[in-house]
Amino acid sequence: MPSTAAPRAASREGSASSSPPRKVKLAARIARAIEDDVIAAGWPVGSMIGSEPELIERYGVSRAVFREAVRLVEHHQVAQMRRGRSGGLKVIAPNAAAAVSAAVVYLEHTGTTVDDLLRVRSLLEPLAAAEAAKHISEADIKALRDAVGQETGAPAEGGIPAAYGGLHVTVARLSGNPVLQLFVEVLAQLTERYAKVRRTTRADRDATAQEVDRAHHALVDAVVAGDAATAQHDMSAHLTAIQQWFAGTQRPIGTRRPVGASDRAGGRHKLAEVIAEEIRADIVRGRWQVGDVIDSEIGLVARYDVSRSAIREAVRLLEHHSIAWMRRGPNGGLIVARPDLDAGVAAMALYLDYRGAAAADLLLVRKELELGCVDVVASRSSEPRVRERLEQALSVRPDAPAAEVNRLANELHLAVAELAGNPVLVFLIRTLTSLYARHVAAVPGIQPLPALTPAEAVAHAHLAIVEAIASGDRGLARRRMARHLDALSLWWH
Ligand SMILES: [Zn+2]
Ligand SMILES: [Zn+2]
Repeated sequence: MPSTAAPRAASREGSASSSPPRKVKLAARIARAIEDDVIAAGWPVGSMIGSEPELIERYGVSRAVFREAVRLVEHHQVAQMRRGRSGGLKVIAPNAAAAVSAAVVYLEHTGTTVDDLLRVRSLLEPLAAAEAAKHISEADIKALRDAVGQETGAPAEGGIPAAYGGLHVTVARLSGNPVLQLFVEVLAQLTERYAKVRRTTRADRDATAQEVDRAHHALVDAVVAGDAATAQHDMSAHLTAIQQWFAGTQRPIGTRRPVGASDRAGGRHKLAEVIAEEIRADIVRGRWQVGDVIDSEIGLVARYDVSRSAIREAVRLLEHHSIAWMRRGPNGGLIVARPDLDAGVAAMALYLDYRGAAAADLLLVRKELELGCVDVVASRSSEPRVRERLEQALSVRPDAPAAEVNRLANELHLAVAELAGNPVLVFLIRTLTSLYARHVAAVPGIQPLPALTPAEAVAHAHLAIVEAIASGDRGLARRRMARHLDALSLWWH
């Protein structure tokens, strides 16, 4: 698997023909500044940030750049511009859709398979089931029983709908952990779109539906009874069964057509989003390369058979995710860009900030994911490149400047995630480390461990983890990583 450092570095290069104009980048920076201000203010939904003239003054940009920035902030669902006399930029409550769509872009571009999705679900969902069993309330019990009661009938050709849909997302929501909820929602949605069982008979599908039904009812009973251990075990066994049903479909999801594709007639997606998705899917499938001109605006109107305003809206979405950008002028047209994979991480982290994810929520999920990585990498310790890569990632020296420790420290965590060979793990761990980073930057007065500087403590812990992984001692590596991550909840790095 290629290192994720490669596409990130490439996205910065760009050439004259493949990078968006300066104005777009400046607008993205202003959008980020507005978002940081909203987060710092505690995300006060409904309050006014300022009028257009005030904000143009405050951020020191042209009206054109400011309006472009507002489009991004609106797209991220952080704030919305109200017109009129008492108008201005107003803070709004985002829903998960913006974060989910950004995550989808990332995962489609990084060669994710359905098996990768299900392996990570097998880490997160048993944990969610156990948490739900511990925290479920009377009102939630009704919601859970309703969710399982609504699943009836045999699945359609090629799919096992009840195997990924509503109940799994409901259980994750009832865990009370916003991080688990968002991650499971992203993974369940992608599974639903891309998982396909090949060559099934009616009898097979009926048998599978019965098995899903039985597993779901058993799971719900355990959660309602508050039996965390059984709920965790049942969910784990259920996901193992799902993995077996989908075994053998190893093609990356980005190169496949979604199950029941393209609902242009409306429904959940706005038309512009559907068009943007069709264009993106064509790019991911390799129809065009970076720098290619896809078509002129008029050409796109004809090609996708929609209005000019829908095309313009779709182009904005593509520009926002750095998938393509519109060049004006005689040789103009929609050009394929290098995708900005960091946008997916940023959108997920932003949404979790809005949901008020606490350090304890983050730690629980981070431990589960990183210990999952340690398991995989320790089992492959005999491969020479494993030790080499890990040793390269020991970038925190005991004498490193305190301000640099956090950034350098992430390198080891990301190296372990990359060596685990699952792009979903890399993506989710990057989301969590970026959240940690922002909060550490926002809270300067963190209590250091006694007797050790931050750099000394991290350098020591990282070295011990690498030694255990490299010697193939999975138990010791897990223990050391767990202790190291626990220390972060008291003292983040
Ligand atoms: Zn299920
Ligand atoms: Zn660390």
